[in-house]
Amino acid sequence: MSIVYLNGEFLPKDEARVSVLDRGFLFGDGVYEVIPVYGGRLFRLEQHLDRLDQSLVGIRLANPHTRPEWRQIIGQLVELQGGGDQSVYLQVTRGAAPKRDHAFPADVRATVFAMSSPLTPNPPEVAQQGVAAITLEDIRWKYCHIKAVTLLANVLLRQQALDGGAVESILIRDGEVTEGAASNVFIVRAGELLTPPKGPFLLPGITRDLILELAAANGIPHREAAITEADLASAAEIWVTSSTREILPVTTLNGVPVGNGKPGPQWTRMAALFQAYKECLRSGEAN
Ligand code: PMP
Repeated sequence: MSIVYLNGEFLPKDEARVSVLDRGFLFGDGVYEVIPVYGGRLFRLEQHLDRLDQSLVGIRLANPHTRPEWRQIIGQLVELQGGGDQSVYLQVTRGAAPKRDHAFPADVRATVFAMSSPLTPNPPEVAQQGVAAITLEDIRWKYCHIKAVTLLANVLLRQQALDGGAVESILIRDGEVTEGAASNVFIVRAGELLTPPKGPFLLPGITRDLILELAAANGIPHREAAITEADLASAAEIWVTSSTREILPVTTLNGVPVGNGKPGPQWTRMAALFQAYKECLRSGEAN
């Protein structure tokens, strides 16, 4: 039975209970983080907690915990699951008010929940064949930089990809790529790695930032720049990136092969750099 954290207590998952009046449940009024753990060590914990701070500022909710408290809660949760490779999910909602009302409640304690699940690696076919993606209109709101639990649009967009046998939807707003339904997007064009700049229409991905750092450290040409739908369609390589799926090479877009239809050489190189980074984390040389 896995142990979860809820409002100050560690308890078995089946015993954790949240009020039906919780604003996370009624309004999707909350934010979350997903933090990978490799060999019992948290991947970029401080960056994830920085982003949590930003999300909380974005929804005007005071952070219920100090940084040392967060480190303690998350660290203990990871230990209780027995270390290894995990995916920590944490969520903060505006809590349960006495009645359902859109207005922010006064004097209500935020609900803090965290759980951890095994982190399953990508199957080997991914590196051999890559994955399929489709493009869809980005129908979401203008605060996509906030990691809000209000994910209905993302759920519908991801499901549309799955229904068509693809793994991800790449979203287009006003003719430009924003991100994936649950990932950031990179393309390779003329040997250069491109990803859209941060802004209100995409989540500032922690994996995205690490890829840019690894590119800079290894002399790989890279730039944050707008990617048009036409750029995407003619890209030599397309990648989608996230904490749980790392870097997926997209080899089919809307049923058409990307490049030669195989994971490209830049992906192979970046995937190796990423694995090397994870090994450093496991041995305590990185964070
Ligand atoms: N964009 C969206 C909409 C996401 O949901 C995610 C992750 N789930 C990402 C980007 C990637 O962010 P990260 O690399 O921090 O997981």
